[in-house]
Amino acid sequence: MDTPSLPNVLELGVASTKGAALIVAVRYNRGMIETQVAPARLTRQRQAVLEAVAGRQDHPTAAQVFDSVRGRQPHIAYGTVYNALHYLVHSGLVAEVRRPDGVVSYDRETRPHDHAVCRACGTLADVHVPAVRDGVSASYDAVARETGFTVEQHRVEFVGICPACRSSDE
Ligand SMILES: [Zn+2]
Ligand SMILES: [Zn+2]
Repeated sequence: MDTPSLPNVLELGVASTKGAALIVAVRYNRGMIETQVAPARLTRQRQAVLEAVAGRQDHPTAAQVFDSVRGRQPHIAYGTVYNALHYLVHSGLVAEVRRPDGVVSYDRETRPHDHAVCRACGTLADVHVPAVRDGVSASYDAVARETGFTVEQHRVEFVGICPACRSSDE
């Protein structure tokens, strides 16, 4: 059986001990569980951007993250926030998720999860219904047989109208 060349990250987090931040990654690699610990090069600005994303329930765009960070660091430049987001996505500390309108937004939840999408405004909400993931995961073998793919993960998107759009409609 072929194993994917890119190790699959199961868990990723930031631990900090005595002021030093560490990136902790738990990966599934060629049948083995391995843990990697690397010093996080989190500058004050990257830290502020990470906290801004982590502090939001929604999936903010770069412009919305910029607004959040500016509340605490009024002189920060948009480019700095944008570059920090790029670094955080590259490090696996923040996930990138595309809205239905094509706009890239950012997700504090980096573990595989599903989304509900508003077809009116494009907002995304996390879905943590175990039955959804379990049900779809149970069909990996059938999908693999039909497509010949080695199935590693999946995404489910529920489409509808969000509470804000629903109440502005009434
Ligand atoms: Zn909406
Ligand atoms: Zn999400």
